[in-house]
Amino acid sequence: MRQERTYGRWMMLFLLVLLDVGVFLVDIYFIPENVLPPAPYVIPVLISAYLLPPSLVAAITALSIAFQLTAASFHPTPLWLVSLYAASIGLVGFLAAALSHRTRREAATAAQLDSTITSMADAVVIYGRDGEILRMNPAAERMLGLSEEERRLPLAGRLPAVQAETEERKPIEPEDTPPARALRGETVRGMVVVLHRGERTIWTSASASPICSPDGTLLGAVVTLVDITKRHELEEQRDDLVRAISHDLRNPLTAVQGQAQLLQRLLRGMGVEERMVRSAEAITIGAQRMNAMILDLVESTRLEAGQLRLTKRPTNLRALLDGLLDRSSGVMEVERIRVQIPADLPPVDADPDRLERVFTNLLTNALKYSSKGSEVVVEAVATDGWVTTSVVDRGVGISEEDLPHIFERFYRAKGTRKTEGLGMGLYIARMLIEAHGGRIWAESHEGEGSRFSFTIPVAVSNRGTDTD
Ligand code: ADP
Repeated sequence: MRQERTYGRWMMLFLLVLLDVGVFLVDIYFIPENVLPPAPYVIPVLISAYLLPPSLVAAITALSIAFQLTAASFHPTPLWLVSLYAASIGLVGFLAAALSHRTRREAATAAQLDSTITSMADAVVIYGRDGEILRMNPAAERMLGLSEEERRLPLAGRLPAVQAETEERKPIEPEDTPPARALRGETVRGMVVVLHRGERTIWTSASASPICSPDGTLLGAVVTLVDITKRHELEEQRDDLVRAISHDLRNPLTAVQGQAQLLQRLLRGMGVEERMVRSAEAITIGAQRMNAMILDLVESTRLEAGQLRLTKRPTNLRALLDGLLDRSSGVMEVERIRVQIPADLPPVDADPDRLERVFTNLLTNALKYSSKGSEVVVEAVATDGWVTTSVVDRGVGISEEDLPHIFERFYRAKGTRKTEGLGMGLYIARMLIEAHGGRIWAESHEGEGSRFSFTIPVAVSNRGTDTD
């Protein structure tokens, strides 16, 4: 409503100005001898209008037109001439005021933008169309440390000065640098660029975008560099820790496990009490569970750091499960697991070690959250280039409230918190399945049991030979 009123006012003003322009032209072309030449009064008018608010100039314009309309019904008289004169002053003044207002606004915006760029903690560099540096803020000056001459160099010539390298510490080719890519119209996000400043190595995350005019013409590029050196150091420390956990902590555990298994066999051979054999068995199971938890922690760190590299190959699910169950007897109640996988199921495109981890986590849960005597079934079916595998149990089930959260990290359903666990197993299973391009989900009813299913693509050479 208010906007409409403003619009109406400007329209009125525009019509008045149009009328005024007419008067001005009449003034110049038809009665030049009666008016003062425009030049002498235009300059003082421009100066005074620059200082006056546009509304006041508009009011003068309107007043002058009113004069002129009144005078128009008479022969040229001094009043008529005065009104023409006032109308011209008003028009010139209005245009000057509008111009000055715009100029002041643009100057204020430019100053605001300039101080924003200057006070930014991250480095900002603005490049011209040919890759020359037009503007850089103090943070960029500190980070790049380019001299005046180096700034004027073309993009490729400037590279040796900053010694830019990739994350893998290989020199970045001139055409692959963020500004070069942005000047080709690309938008770059979070590219890791390693810079060298004397003795110092600076890790940065670079983003770049082309700068285009409203009609799409490329004007240059803007690059921001965020210093991630601290973050990189922390990541390196974390990697060292993960390496230590996965190696130094698991090595003694493997020794404990091996010795306990040996002890178990010896005790069995000696025909001692079953209670003693069970004790040795408990050590094996404990060591294997601890190993599994460490593996989950290590795997989750790798997944979150984006360091997981899958080694995919055509994998036969049946063979994989047979192997896993063979190795797990004594650790898992494998006798409760029934595998129902058709012999002609096509191989899947998967990393067998990671798929084994998913199965271990799902089977351990299915056995853990169901009663001793109940069966756990593994089923698989191939459809449209995907194999859907399900692990089904008749256990405690999961409430509607918990079901949407069980794949979250560290989430444990209220009813099952007394049972041993970290709340990492399903989270890792989800991350691993998603890394394979698949999907994982659960269906469950409290007190009736659960069905965990996941999809994995069929290996490419076997597409089209799916079975249902
Ligand atoms: P945890 O180490 O606690 O088993 P998971 O990530 O493997 O962690 O599972 C998360 C939670 O999901 C479990 O704490 C449990 O509450 C629930 N859950 C997982 N599998 C089952 C299942 N087969 N039956 C019932 N609840 C389950």
